[in-house]
Amino acid sequence: MKVKAAVLRQSGLKRPYAESRPLTVEEIELDPPGPGEVLVAIKAAGLCHSDLSVITGDVPLPLPLVMGHEASGVVEALGPGVVDLAVGDHVVMLFVASCGSCGFCREARPALCEQGRRSNMTGTLLAGTRRLRADGAEMNHAMGASCFAERAVVSRGSLVRIDKAVPFEEAALFGCAVVTGVGAVINTAKVPAGASVAIVGLGGVGLNMLLGATLAGARQIVAIDVVADKLALAKSLGATDTFDAREKDLVRTIMKATNRGVDYAFETAGLAETLDLAYRITRCGGTTTTTSLPGRAVNWTVSTAHAVLEERTVKGSFMGSAVPSRDVPRYIELFRQGRLPVDRLKSNRVTLDRLNEGFDALAAGAVVRQILVFD
Ligand SMILES: [Zn+2]
Ligand SMILES: [Zn+2]
Repeated sequence: MKVKAAVLRQSGLKRPYAESRPLTVEEIELDPPGPGEVLVAIKAAGLCHSDLSVITGDVPLPLPLVMGHEASGVVEALGPGVVDLAVGDHVVMLFVASCGSCGFCREARPALCEQGRRSNMTGTLLAGTRRLRADGAEMNHAMGASCFAERAVVSRGSLVRIDKAVPFEEAALFGCAVVTGVGAVINTAKVPAGASVAIVGLGGVGLNMLLGATLAGARQIVAIDVVADKLALAKSLGATDTFDAREKDLVRTIMKATNRGVDYAFETAGLAETLDLAYRITRCGGTTTTTSLPGRAVNWTVSTAHAVLEERTVKGSFMGSAVPSRDVPRYIELFRQGRLPVDRLKSNRVTLDRLNEGFDALAAGAVVRQILVFD
């Protein structure tokens, strides 16, 4: 069938994207779902910083590519062998499809799924297939999702069924920002009640870390960014202390405010400076966790003696160490109870033909989560 989709044919174009227009809206051919695959009508999709890294070329995915990796939608058709979903089901789309049978999937670490990883690198679905074509030539899938389109064909392992009462725009956020941010706090760092937490970088993921820290019962939550509006939003979402990252003597100020550092620091900005800041404001014996995925190598030096003498832990967290089929329904229930107010992270709606302008706003740091909607 024909669907309208946002296609990236060339990365590295200059900003403003409103002028260089890296994303083009094209009518492409979407093949029917094969074995283990599902056709989904996309209802809402989030604009994520990782999309921006693909547009800049920092994260080199195979092109041409139908963009987008965080979405919600409705199941329209099932490929052979998909027996645990039904047409009409509402679903959230994740950015790593999991096979369910590799060693990592069996260890309940589907973010590390071997097949999911391979297919994300090569621009295919889990089975190694591509269902997107333009002028007879195959196009690549973005993270197994390619949801900046009216419809998508994805692997069953990319989807989690959700309650039909959940609004689509909020539901979309659970596919990337929420699982990554809340999961980093709950699954990766395992923050206990009463702990102190710092978050460096308040984008969609950083603010979800804040919501996660609130859920976990952190006694102190320090939020750090350079955008005043984001610091104000963080405060209204439960941050106890906020700091402008450009403040002079920031490490010393935070060490003082936190009684010699926080138990758990989180970093989302992907710079050597922000990683260093997060590490230095973690207390002796504490844990520093990063979710950043800078495409270009970011190397950051840690003193071994310091790490040993102070028993420090540094962790990487991918997709919030989530088990999506377990975590997404749990987080959605918390949202419905008002305890995980992800609706507060929505900025504005955009349409397919306004995605370039949306990514200009994201690159400028002016927005948290813009949502692509279809009428
Ligand atoms: Zn994302
Ligand atoms: Zn697997």
